[in-house]
Amino acid sequence: MATTTTLILGAGFGGIVAANALRRQLPPEHRVVLIDKALHFYIGATKPWVMLGHKSVSEISCSREALNGRGIEFLHANVRRIDLARGEVTTDRGVQRGDYLVIALGADYDMSAIPGLGDTAHEFYTLEGAVRLCAALRVFSRGDLVVLVPRAPFKCPPAPYEAAMLMHQAFKERGVRDNVRIALHTIEGAPMATAGAEMGRFMREQLASRNIDYHPARNTTGIDGKHRTVQFEDGSAAHFDLLVSVPPHVAPKVVRDAGLTNASGWIPADPKTLKVASDSAFRAVYAIGDVSVVPLPGRHKADVPLVLPKAGTIADAQGLAVASQIAAEVLGRPAETFGGVGTCYIETGDRHAVRGEGQFYALPHPVMSATPPDRAQYEGKLAWIGDWLRANL
Ligand SMILES: Cc1cc2nc3c(=O)[nH]c(=O)nc-3n(C[C@H](O)[C@H](O)[C@H](O)COP(=O)(O)OP(=O)(O)OC[C@H]3O[C@@H](n4cnc5c(N)ncnc54)[C@H](O)[C@@H]3O)c2cc1C
Repeated sequence: MATTTTLILGAGFGGIVAANALRRQLPPEHRVVLIDKALHFYIGATKPWVMLGHKSVSEISCSREALNGRGIEFLHANVRRIDLARGEVTTDRGVQRGDYLVIALGADYDMSAIPGLGDTAHEFYTLEGAVRLCAALRVFSRGDLVVLVPRAPFKCPPAPYEAAMLMHQAFKERGVRDNVRIALHTIEGAPMATAGAEMGRFMREQLASRNIDYHPARNTTGIDGKHRTVQFEDGSAAHFDLLVSVPPHVAPKVVRDAGLTNASGWIPADPKTLKVASDSAFRAVYAIGDVSVVPLPGRHKADVPLVLPKAGTIADAQGLAVASQIAAEVLGRPAETFGGVGTCYIETGDRHAVRGEGQFYALPHPVMSATPPDRAQYEGKLAWIGDWLRANL
């Protein structure tokens, strides 16, 4: 059997899982090369803890160099060019050639997409942003807090709702909640709309019970930093003393430059195999996780097509499916495919959480349900993170 090289671009949730799973399935002479521009890995779900000051950056970070001890070749390098015709990837540390290509480069953020946003808004989607927001929240005791979702899609659909509830709890514990008005303005028609009506209802009830105002279907056109207002397309505006925004997301430039994205701005991938249709010197090209766009078979409204949400657990399951397919092709055995299942934990404050499990390929529409928040589900989130780290890094 000829040996193979699999290049996995991006050592985030999806890339790390794919690399580990492939390493477990292929004999050692087959190379698994995992490339990332950042040396340290952080689980997205831990960023709210940094935002609240419950964990320091060093407590939630792991070095990716540990992957070398698992038989994976980790290359700390920036991917500059993907050349499908030549079957190679150019990095700032040289050119890599491979038989299989897995693109798991996630999403980049573009605060400049909305005039005034970058100058005025805090965010908790980057670690640096979460650290800065933590300092701002510590001294914020009075006024209007606006949580803004100006563009979709964005990763972790419950994250802005979770953040609003966690900030509510932090203000309550400091005894200043009565002095702070919290409002959430979003471009989405409903919270976690892809997951279905039950999750949306659940989330709205959670917000209302905390006196958090909810304003859906609001298209942000700009931020007026001088008057401290968010401007919306319908001519209305929201005043803020502290603005916390989900950053607008874009696919990394390197995949846009390679012509891999479609009109959605993301890489279209087959729902089951995650294969990317391409003329390529690679034997197969796959896109997993946030960088991909996967159409769903079902719909909630006949005229509104849906795509898979961007989430770590989905990137994880897709990484497993892609590893199974590459190993199956190399070893000549049947492969497993991705079944459209994704879970999420939503913290609601006071060490309580909700676990939702979404069946995104269900017909006639995706389904996800939730049980009321409790301590056991919060412990479930801690166990999930601990287990994931032990299994993968
Ligand atoms: C605040 C927050 C909370 C979240 N909570 C949850 C949660 O509770 N549950 C959940 O399932 N998901 C959660 N998520 C979402 C989850 O983090 C992402 O969906 C997940 O990380 C996607 O995995 P991925 O592998 O597609 O991309 P990523 O994990 O983002 O990995 C992409 C990798 O590509 C690398 N990269 C990008 N460009 C280049 C380049 N040119 N060269 C080299 N490397 C490059 C990046 O450095 C990065 O490491 C949360 C996200 C945030 C921000």
